[in-house]
Amino acid sequence: MSIFVFQRFAILFLITIKQLLMSVLRSIVHMDLDTFFVSCERLLDSRLNNKPILIGGTSDRGVVASCSYEARAFGIHSAMPMRMAQQRCPEAIVIKGNSATYSKYSRLVTEIIKEASPLYEKSSIDEFYIDFTGMDRFHGVLKYSSELRERIIKETGLPISFGLSPNKTVSKIATGEAKPNNQIEITNGHEKSFLAPLSVRKIPMVGLKTYQSLCGLGIRKIEPLQKMPVELMERAMGQNGVGIWKKANGIDSSPVIQHNERKSISTERTFNQDTIDVVKLKGILSAMAENLAFQLRRGARLTGCVTVKIRYSDFQTQTLQKKIPYTAADHELIPMIMELFQRAFNRRLLVRLIGVRYSSLVSGNHQLDLFSDETDYASLYKAMDQIRVRYGDRAVIKAIGLQAKTIGGWNPFNGEPPALLANRRS
Ligand SMILES: [Mg+2]
Repeated sequence: MSIFVFQRFAILFLITIKQLLMSVLRSIVHMDLDTFFVSCERLLDSRLNNKPILIGGTSDRGVVASCSYEARAFGIHSAMPMRMAQQRCPEAIVIKGNSATYSKYSRLVTEIIKEASPLYEKSSIDEFYIDFTGMDRFHGVLKYSSELRERIIKETGLPISFGLSPNKTVSKIATGEAKPNNQIEITNGHEKSFLAPLSVRKIPMVGLKTYQSLCGLGIRKIEPLQKMPVELMERAMGQNGVGIWKKANGIDSSPVIQHNERKSISTERTFNQDTIDVVKLKGILSAMAENLAFQLRRGARLTGCVTVKIRYSDFQTQTLQKKIPYTAADHELIPMIMELFQRAFNRRLLVRLIGVRYSSLVSGNHQLDLFSDETDYASLYKAMDQIRVRYGDRAVIKAIGLQAKTIGGWNPFNGEPPALLANRRS
């Protein structure tokens, strides 16, 4: 073999090794807006700066959706009953919260991240994962991420923190450690030592119940969990235990899933006989809106855009869509669907098909619905959804929608097979 051929093999070999390393070693940024709702309120009213602020439902059963660091000093945290929070800090300023404002700022931040990032996931209204893998060839990833963070702060006025590491779990935990208004990089090989001294509660999968089980095993910090054989965790807590053990060891290969404004859930119905019965049409639309909202809640999603579709007997199709504050609440969605229908249904013609679509979906539980205080909507929905899960999606339905046929009891977010009439575009 000549030297020349050998050289070529050596170069090819090195390139392959480099590509292999590149594909294994990722650069994942987790960005999270600090006390997001509070920061938005402070942008609108600077008198709220440096004061203990509670945002959430103000009724008897209201819950804290977000609170300022000044309030946290009193031992207050989100999801705490508002009454208890007010007892702990009577001088706190209580604000009902405004989902339209928060949705507006969330979109502003999303636009900046979208423009600057090759691949990003919007994991909630105030949280993002960005995959900057391979970017080190052109810019330093840390420098680029810092500049992006500075840009968001400068253009929106909102404080934001980030964690940078080779995977999502470590980056998310790093963001939590960086807060407030700061950044941390955990380089490859330092994941375990970074995690070791932290409480096991910092692992994203660990809620109160799991935490108590781990305490029962004598584990409070991540370090003893790292040193434990994985088989032991599997025996104690099953597959969930294996997942927790992996995260404790800084192992996480889950990908950043590209956010797509067009991703949607929808349902439509073609009539056997074309109709112009407006009461019937509205009833069906209401049932559709309600069923899709149930599916959003079941998949822990919120929608930021609603569309109504009408096809007339002459096959002309009219669609109207509207950007809305992020929500998964029937009492907010149904009136918007009705308003769109009123505007869209403008020809005196028989209708062949109607449909509803929710798009611009983001992950998130109904934290945005926690502000309503006339009725306790959050617990109402929880109760209704439990009945639906148990007895089928038609077990509870608003009276107006009683004429509608079932439109599917599947969960579009966990891969269960879709029903005939519902469809999913991703
Ligand atoms: Mg946040």
